[in-house]
Amino acid sequence: MKKCDIAIVGAGPGGLITALSLENSGLNVFLIDQKHRNTFGEKVCGDAISKHHFDFLHKKLGLNYPDAEIRNHIKGINIFSPDKKTCFDVQEKEGGYIIDRNIFCKNISSMLENTNILDNNEVIKLYDKKLILKNTKNGDIEKIEPNIIVDSSGCRAILRRQVISKYIQQEIDTRDLCICYREIRKYELKNDYCDIYLDQKMSKGGYVWIFPSGKNVNVGIGVQYPLNPKQKFYGYIKNSCFRNSEIIHKGAGIIPVRRPLNSSVAMLPGNIGFMLVGDCACHINPIHGGGIGQSMISGYTASSTILKSGVDDLDIEKLWDYNIEYMTNVGYRNAGLDIFRIFLQNISNENINFGMNKKLIQEQDLMRMSEGKSLNIESKLNVLIKGLGKMKLLKNLILVAKNIDKVKKLYKSYPCVNDFDEWEKNVNKVFNDFYDYMEKQNLKNDN
Ligand SMILES: Cc1cc2nc3c(=O)[nH]c(=O)nc-3n(C[C@H](O)[C@H](O)[C@H](O)COP(=O)(O)OP(=O)(O)OC[C@H]3O[C@@H](n4cnc5c(N)ncnc54)[C@H](O)[C@@H]3O)c2cc1C
Repeated sequence: MKKCDIAIVGAGPGGLITALSLENSGLNVFLIDQKHRNTFGEKVCGDAISKHHFDFLHKKLGLNYPDAEIRNHIKGINIFSPDKKTCFDVQEKEGGYIIDRNIFCKNISSMLENTNILDNNEVIKLYDKKLILKNTKNGDIEKIEPNIIVDSSGCRAILRRQVISKYIQQEIDTRDLCICYREIRKYELKNDYCDIYLDQKMSKGGYVWIFPSGKNVNVGIGVQYPLNPKQKFYGYIKNSCFRNSEIIHKGAGIIPVRRPLNSSVAMLPGNIGFMLVGDCACHINPIHGGGIGQSMISGYTASSTILKSGVDDLDIEKLWDYNIEYMTNVGYRNAGLDIFRIFLQNISNENINFGMNKKLIQEQDLMRMSEGKSLNIESKLNVLIKGLGKMKLLKNLILVAKNIDKVKKLYKSYPCVNDFDEWEKNVNKVFNDFYDYMEKQNLKNDN
């Protein structure tokens, strides 16, 4: 049995940046992953990431900007309406990249000179203060006793789904899960935009993406749980220019497309600190499901809290800083976007076409929302006039704007531990009411 200060479960981008941020702390850190270290980062993913995430990591950790790991430079995102008559050109201020996740994650793991990396080790459970690990090569069982556990095991959330604490939500609502099927095909797109196609018939509650990836194309489809995206995928690409191209990789994945979990920290029996990072905490952009950058920011933020709290004489108040930091800096934006995601998932192609064609919502509105700003629908008189044909849609859009502001305010005033119950009640009520309301609106059907 080994003792350590911190055990990080999962060496995806979230877990790796958590470890990197603790490198010079003098703490005894274990980073555990079921994969071999040469395959860290390998995952079915769109692989797109904005440059601003690297600006953050460069500033905070001195991390170099990606170079060898870049498959494609990206200027922005094109979002096509279901009838393809409207395309929003959402420019990224400083662009972004399609990265090779495996090279990227291997590079970070090679920087971890002071971290004990236990690869080929699957975490099975937490039992009597000890993490139980099973070696994926020889089946050997090992036990580790940490002071703090960071669950960064992605959507699988191996420990989050086992622990019992009033602060930790074990399961997430299946309406907040997006099931994806993706292929990498040998086909050069010669495009420096990520193309996203909205189509409620083809990709219900999600979208089709076609991203350039050097000499290849990264193409996939995401749909709302429990639909099966694979069949739809082949329906969609049968008319594409790369329909006959060679398939280099194919596979499925799940994205938790929702606001952050209400709390990402708890104290477990035996005075073990418990923290969630990345997908495990639903630290993700709910509109497009981008979570590579967000998981790294969440890993950095979790580590900053640990550096302040230390690992001895822990209590929930000390770890709570992580919740406050994350929610007031990043989480509030995702919470606002989540309202818009629920709205989008509950409207028909015809309504999306109308909203985009008539510019009830425009590129700059999407940018503003991503930056955490308000969606000022009511103040646009011209929007009111344009929306006359669809008063119900317009009325709902105004409600969306109001709810975005409401949740942003709630998350920006994230509470101290003692006031958490009341805050959680309020937040859950806003989202449950909004979900119920949208489902009753019958905007899913073309009319
Ligand atoms: C189809 C698809 C497309 C996506 N496209 C994009 C995109 O274009 N851009 C973007 O930013 N995001 C995208 N995402 C989301 C992105 O992949 C995640 O948000 C990001 O990888 C989260 O990082 P993470 O470190 O939290 O988890 P992960 O990257 O999932 O890493 C989790 C790690 O935990 C390990 N693990 C799991 N269980 C155990 C266990 N029991 N024991 C030991 N180790 C374990 C895994 O092996 C893995 O290494 C996409 C996701 C999917 C599924």
